[in-house]
Amino acid sequence: MSDCIFCKILAGEIPSAKVYESGRVAAFLDIGPMEKGHVLVVPKRHWPTLADVPAPLAGEDRAVWDELFDTVRRLAKAALRAGWAGANVLQCNGEAAGQTVGHLHFHVIPRPAGGAVPPAFESGAARYADDAERDAVAAKLRTALADVLRDEGV
Ligand code: AMP
Ligand code: ZN
Repeated sequence: MSDCIFCKILAGEIPSAKVYESGRVAAFLDIGPMEKGHVLVVPKRHWPTLADVPAPLAGEDRAVWDELFDTVRRLAKAALRAGWAGANVLQCNGEAAGQTVGHLHFHVIPRPAGGAVPPAFESGAARYADDAERDAVAAKLRTALADVLRDEGV
């Protein structure tokens, strides 16, 4: 994608501090780190969000997906190996979720010991009015997931 900043980084048109690169995936430092060592793990395919990943996954798409997740896992492991005390993995889909770059990416954010626990996912920030509302939301998601599974031939 010619107007995508991450495609430009992957093409070497914009500089980045690369931590990992293969034919399928790259990882580079975030330009606005939430913590020192904040890395973005990016597939070399321009999939805007998780909803755009082809499914069922097969062939080269499957290989890219597998390596993407393996790289997220290995970078979290590497952060611990390098001496950080913890690591967060964060991923945003759509503006409503805070996505600002429309090329799928996972944030791996190393955390030092003794820092404040990051409030990215605040537990208890929303409340169901009652059990009926909670059950209706669960049912809505079950139905939608069944549709996705059917669409994907699972
Ligand atoms: P998100 O909110 O999940 O879409 O995150 C996009 C991230 O990309 C932000 O954390 C930005 O700081 C980061 N970012 C934007 N431009 C660049 C760039 N040229 N190099 C490295 N990171 C970038
Ligand atoms: Zn892109």
